Amino acid sequence: MALGIRRLLAVSLVGGVFLMGNIMLLAHWFDSIGAVDFANAVREQFLTGTAITIIVALLILLVHPGAESDRILRQCPVCNHRLFCRGSFCSECGSKW
Ligand SMILES: [Zn+2]
Repeated sequence: MALGIRRLLAVSLVGGVFLMGNIMLLAHWFDSIGAVDFANAVREQFLTGTAITIIVALLILLVHPGAESDRILRQCPVCNHRLFCRGSFCSECGSKW
């Protein structure tokens, strides 16, 4: 496990425990500023079952732009030979990058 992941795990664990310890305080604060009523109004108006279904379907269908084309249409930076396999070796000119 990399050091960065360990740090992130430790910080998120401490943050999670802190948040769970003060969850009632946060709930009272959200209620006092009116965020709960606003969220209920938004949920009733805009987040119907159909809207949630469409949002989830779009999130599933969206891919990173160029991710699929990068995997299929790669070219050697030296000789511009089209590469069909993964890796950093060109079988045409023998270059490795
Ligand atoms: Zn090449």
